[in-house]
Amino acid sequence: MGKHSGFLEFPRSAVPYRDAAKRIGDFDEIFTDPDESLLRRQGARCMDCGVPFCQTATGCPIDNLIPEWNDLVYRGQWKAALDRLHQTNNFPEFTGRTCPAPCEGACVLGITDPPVTIKNIENAIIDRGFAEGWVRHDPPAQRSGRTVAVVGSGPAGLAAADQLNKAGHAVTVFEREDRIGGLLMYGIPNMKLDKSLVDRRVQLMAESGIRFRAGADVGVNVDPDELKAEYDAVLLATGATRPRDLPVPGRELPGIHFAMEFLTENTRSLLDSGLRDGRFINARGKDVIVIGGGDTGADCIGTALRHGCRSLVNLELLDRPPEERAQDNPWPEWPLIFRTEYAHEESAARFGSDPRSFSVLSKSFSGNGGGVSALHTVNIRWQPHGGARKMIELEGTENTLKADLVLLAMGFLGPEDYVARPLGLELDSRSNYKAVHGDYRTNVPGVFAAGDCRRGQSLVVWAINEGRGAAAAIDEWLSAGMTEARSDDVPRGAAHV
Ligand SMILES: Cc1cc2nc3c(=O)[nH]c(=O)nc-3n(C[C@H](O)[C@H](O)[C@H](O)COP(=O)(O)OP(=O)(O)OC[C@H]3O[C@@H](n4cnc5c(N)ncnc54)[C@H](O)[C@@H]3O)c2cc1C
Ligand code: SF4
Repeated sequence: MGKHSGFLEFPRSAVPYRDAAKRIGDFDEIFTDPDESLLRRQGARCMDCGVPFCQTATGCPIDNLIPEWNDLVYRGQWKAALDRLHQTNNFPEFTGRTCPAPCEGACVLGITDPPVTIKNIENAIIDRGFAEGWVRHDPPAQRSGRTVAVVGSGPAGLAAADQLNKAGHAVTVFEREDRIGGLLMYGIPNMKLDKSLVDRRVQLMAESGIRFRAGADVGVNVDPDELKAEYDAVLLATGATRPRDLPVPGRELPGIHFAMEFLTENTRSLLDSGLRDGRFINARGKDVIVIGGGDTGADCIGTALRHGCRSLVNLELLDRPPEERAQDNPWPEWPLIFRTEYAHEESAARFGSDPRSFSVLSKSFSGNGGGVSALHTVNIRWQPHGGARKMIELEGTENTLKADLVLLAMGFLGPEDYVARPLGLELDSRSNYKAVHGDYRTNVPGVFAAGDCRRGQSLVVWAINEGRGAAAAIDEWLSAGMTEARSDDVPRGAAHV
C-alpha cells in the first residue's frame, strides 16, 4: 500500500480548476497542471483495502486497478502505473477528465473522511505517459483474417475497435459525423475535454491498423445489409441520440433549441474556424434559459457563458438533492447529493449566484414576433403516490422568465431507428437496441450492440465497459466459427480480449 499512515497524515486535496472568472474567456480546458508532490501524497492516502470497493461493486465500472496504481504513484513509478491503468482502460485521458468518479463514491476512506482523489491520479498517470512518449501505437503481431464493422465512434465503438484490433481482427469504424469521437468530440465541450486529445488517440488507433470512415451514415449512405454481408460481425454503437422534447405551447418559436444542436455546432465551428465562421447558435448578449440539468445542462451553461450571454437561468424539474447522503443512499452507493459542477461555479463567478432553480415546471413559451421572448413556469412539489411520485403544481407560484435563447437538455430517448428498421432489430421497452449486458447479441445473428444505444444515455466509463465487453463477445463468436454465441453472463468489466 501507499504510506501506512498516509490517510491520517494528509487531507484530501484535489487538483484545482483554473480560475472560474478567467476561464470563461476561452474554450481551453478548465484543468490546471497537477503538482507531482501533491499527487504522490494523495496516492499515499490509499489504504489498499482488503476489498477495494473503489475498483469493484458500485465503484469503477471498468474495474480499474486503483489501489495498485495509487501505490505506484506514491512510489514515483509512473510507467508501471501507466501499464496497470491501460490493462483495464483504453482511454484514461477521457475518463480522467470527464468521469464523475463513482470510484470515489465507493472509496472506503470516504466512510469517515473525504475519499482519495482517484480521478486526478488516473488523469495524471495518462498525461505523464503521453508526455514521456510511453503511449505508442500497438499493432497486433498477427491478423486473424476476420473482419468487424463498428458503427459509431463514441467511447463504446472506440473501445470495442481497440480491443478487437488487439485481438488481430480487421476493424473498420463507420461514423456519420465529419469527425471521429462520438460525444467525446461533439457533445462534451472542449473546456472539459480538449478535442486534440480525441484526435491524438484516434490517430494512434489508426496507426495500429484500425480504419476510420467519417461521413459514413449507416442506413443513409451505407447500406446496413451490405455491411452485414461484407463483414464477419457488426457492432452497433450508435449512441442514444433522440432528445426528449418539451411539447408545450410555443415550443415551435425560433430561439428554442435542443442542447445538442447548440453544443455540436459550437464545437464544430470552434474546431473549423475558432468560432469565426459564425456557424453556431450564439448566446452572446442573450437571456438564456437552460431547461434540464446533468452534464448536458451544465455544458450548455458553460458554453453560453463563454459566448457572453446577458443572463442565465437553469431550471430543474426534480427537487434539489440533499447536501449529505440520504439514509436510503448509503456508502458505497453513488452519493445522490447536491453537486456544484464547473459550469455552476462559473455562472456564480459571472453573475454572483448559482443559476439553478429546482422543482420548476415549464408550462409554455411566448414570443414577441421575432422569436421566443419568455418562458412561463410554475413551482411544483413531488408527492408520494402508489409507490411512485406525483407532481403537484403549487398555486400562486406562476412566474414569467425573460428568454431569447432556450436550450432543452432533458435527456435522451434511445437510438434513432433508421439502422434498426432495415436490419429487423428488436428494441427493448425503452426503445434501445435489445441485447443483454455481458452478452451484447441482438436478435440478428452477427449483429451486436453496446454503449448508450443498448443501455440508454449513461457515462463514458460505462460506454468503455460495454465496448470492451462487446469486443470479448464478438471475439468469442468469431473464434467459435460464427455459429454459436456466448450465453453466459460476462461480469462487468471482465471484458479482456
Ligand atoms: C452534452 C453531454 C455531455 C456529457 N458529459 C459527460 C461527462 O462529462 N462524463 C461522462 O462520463 N459522460 C458524459 N456524457 C455521456 C457520455 O458522453 C455518453 O454516455 C457516451 O459518449 C456514450 O458513448 P457511446 O459510444 O455509446 O455513444 P456516443 O458517444 O453517442 O457515440 C455514438 C456515435 O454513433 C454515431 N452514429 C449514430 N448513428 C450512426 C449511423 N447510423 N451511422 C454512423 N454513425 C452513427 C454518432 O454520430 C456518434 O458519433 C455526456 C453526454 C452529453 C450528451
Ligand atoms: S474511470 Fe471513473 S470510476 Fe474508474 S477509476 Fe477512473 S474516475 Fe474512477
